[in-house]
Amino acid sequence: MDSGHLRALAQRSWSKLICGASYQDTASIEPLSWIFTLAGVNCIDVAADPAVVQAAYRGIQRAGTPAPWLMVSLNDDTDPHFRKAHFDPERCPADCPRPCERVCPVQAISRAGVELPRCYGCGRCLDVCPYGYISARTYVQRPGAVVELLHHQPIAAVEIHTQVGHREAFQRVWQELQPWVTRLPLLAISCQDHDQVIPYLWSLYEIITPLPCALIWQADGRPMSGDIGAGTTQATVRFAQKILAQGPPGWVQLAGGTNAATWPLVRQLNLPVHGVAYGSYARKLLQPYLQNLDNEAVLATAVTLAKRLIHPKTPGAADWASAAAPAPTVPG
Ligand code: SF4
Ligand code: SF4
Repeated sequence: MDSGHLRALAQRSWSKLICGASYQDTASIEPLSWIFTLAGVNCIDVAADPAVVQAAYRGIQRAGTPAPWLMVSLNDDTDPHFRKAHFDPERCPADCPRPCERVCPVQAISRAGVELPRCYGCGRCLDVCPYGYISARTYVQRPGAVVELLHHQPIAAVEIHTQVGHREAFQRVWQELQPWVTRLPLLAISCQDHDQVIPYLWSLYEIITPLPCALIWQADGRPMSGDIGAGTTQATVRFAQKILAQGPPGWVQLAGGTNAATWPLVRQLNLPVHGVAYGSYARKLLQPYLQNLDNEAVLATAVTLAKRLIHPKTPGAADWASAAAPAPTVPG
């Protein structure tokens, strides 16, 4: 166990890269893991898929620096992070202006339909089809599959996605996972805001305690939206304020809408959160560099951008405008 990661939580400087519970684009996950490991991230959160875990692990090993913890996620019931968009491309009219392609942040849609490994379920395409052809297929990650991964893969942490009203489902998942999870250094529980969320989190706390490992409450503000604009971070900050004021014991980490505006807002409010997780914003920020990392200058630029994002005290990190500016030219 690397106690440096626990120290980062205690020092309120913890950072996590979210590759995404449904994101399986291993060609992007490996270089992202490489960059963020070099940048000093504490944890990399990936889909509970052996190929994805191995891709992230290769990226971590390539960095050759202190390794972040690898985390896999599962859900106790329907959850927007665990879905994929679907449509039949044969039905699409030839003259459709194809708004679905334009809104997809990861270019997962083409004339062949949805490239499923790339789709991470953000939902932006679901309502734009003028014919209503696009639907979401949700799935529940089986705890048994995660236990299997814990047996065979270098995983240090598990995150359970839950929502108010899922207590019984959470309890079933926990019964299956508990013997394994408590051998790990970290458990995270991710939840979205709700007017009953505080009593709900306390009810989960009763289920999981006593807990012999660290616990993070992930305040999932506006899921999968950090790349849309600076304001998306406000929901997670508001939610974290509630957990810090009234929630059960544990570290509190922001997610869902986080971006370069997150730490400045945290500092402005003097909010004692312990860390921030970055998903769609981080992936979009680094995407232009991923295929050119053998060029040392490109790699150095990518690592600098990642450091500015995740290390709140790095000069420039407090400036949404500079971090969100067009990426420097990437040599081919
Ligand atoms: S817009 Fe979002 S939900 Fe639709 S295909 Fe792209 S990643 Fe998937
Ligand atoms: S918007 Fe609808 S009809 Fe048009 S290409 Fe996309 S899925 Fe097909």
